Amino acid sequence: MTRRNIMALMALIAMAVIFTASAYFYRMRTFRRTDYALNTVITITASGKGAEEAERAAIGEIRRIDAAFNAHSQTSELAKLNGSPSGEWVHVSDELFALIEKALKISAKTDGAFDITLKPVSDLWAINTENPRVPSDDEIANALGKTGYKNIALDRDKCAVMFKKDGMELDLGAIAKGYAADRAAAIMRKNGIRSALLDLGGNVFAIGKRADGKKWCIGLQTPYKQRGQYFKKIYIEDSAAVTSGAYERYFTENGKMYHHILDPKTGMPSESKIKSATVVCPDSALADALSTAVFVSGEDGAEKIAKSFKNVKITVLLNDGRVMEY
Ligand code: AMP
Ligand code: MG
Repeated sequence: MTRRNIMALMALIAMAVIFTASAYFYRMRTFRRTDYALNTVITITASGKGAEEAERAAIGEIRRIDAAFNAHSQTSELAKLNGSPSGEWVHVSDELFALIEKALKISAKTDGAFDITLKPVSDLWAINTENPRVPSDDEIANALGKTGYKNIALDRDKCAVMFKKDGMELDLGAIAKGYAADRAAAIMRKNGIRSALLDLGGNVFAIGKRADGKKWCIGLQTPYKQRGQYFKKIYIEDSAAVTSGAYERYFTENGKMYHHILDPKTGMPSESKIKSATVVCPDSALADALSTAVFVSGEDGAEKIAKSFKNVKITVLLNDGRVMEY
């Protein structure tokens, strides 16, 4: 082979290497998309071929769930159910039925700490509005009379729901973000994505590992400190990590702080001595519901909950600064 031919061959090999490497890096390129839905900021980071399109599809799915299950929009399927009188069976979609059924099972297994029927009470507190306020004891007692997960009847064959008391209304706010993360992750996987992190305002879901082959690192936020100050880091793959904390939404009146996670027994913001509760498990809707339940249930309740659910890991930060793991 002449010197010229050798040079030409080497150039060809070099071009082939560059082409293969750039094709590989293109496929592994990471895309990040930030959007707003479900009353929160959503960030999806994904690597691999088709990542951009998969993220778009995932956001579309999250928006669909928001439109269907938002208790505060007048056009949602949930709002239509919420207007229904007691004693009347209301036919609902398979999806809404399944989510309500799942929520009721979680209520039963958490001794009622998680309860989707609290809307009449949370509406009084109006914490997610411009004008939150402390309701009177009478108002709370009256609203509590319209709650109770045991006052929902389900007919699986007819895919129907019935309220047993007048004025009942459901709020899926403590489970919908987790459910949306499950659905969005399923869509991304169907689109061939094997490495992604979905963050729906603290409801995190990890698909596979990071592009560099390491597990995803999730920082647990120190309440009332600047974003990014963590009291612990956890490492996950193919799993959800969901945190509930009083610091997320609250208002102050006469020097007292009132937050958004209610104790279904009292109708008051829970005083369980937990500052933040994180639940890690593969089922994101379950992790979401349980993080709320653990927050309400306190230290002893957290241990009980960890024992009664499979594949669930719980980390709580207590008011006194202790970090407990179950
Ligand atoms: P999360 O941030 O997931 O803990 O959910 C809190 C939201 O769920 C609140 O803003 C209320 O809309 C609703 N909620 C409050 N307390 C409870 C509770 N004990 N069980 C179920 N949902 C609740
Ligand atoms: Mg929750």
